[in-house]
Amino acid sequence: MKKMASLSQTEILKYECGYCNKSYKKQTLYHKHVILCEILRKSIIERKNENEKIDNTPSIPELFDIIKSLVIRHDQLEKKIEKMSTWVNSAKRN
Ligand SMILES: [Zn+2]
Repeated sequence: MKKMASLSQTEILKYECGYCNKSYKKQTLYHKHVILCEILRKSIIERKNENEKIDNTPSIPELFDIIKSLVIRHDQLEKKIEKMSTWVNSAKRN
């Protein structure tokens, strides 16, 4: 009996973000990115108009995912900034 696992058609598929053209192989990662990217790219006015339409409001699980990825990103950035400021301070002294 042959196994179907050898078919790796999902590897070829790419999901591209319409806002920043980033591409993703996994739909779940792509979906999370698009939600975030949309929030970041859209103007405040656009968002205000959208908030009036309840249909476009992210669901609670979607919001939870957004918060999780923001917390991770925030932590990574904080560490990066910490490293950079240490580097800048030591460069100033030399
Ligand atoms: Zn994007």
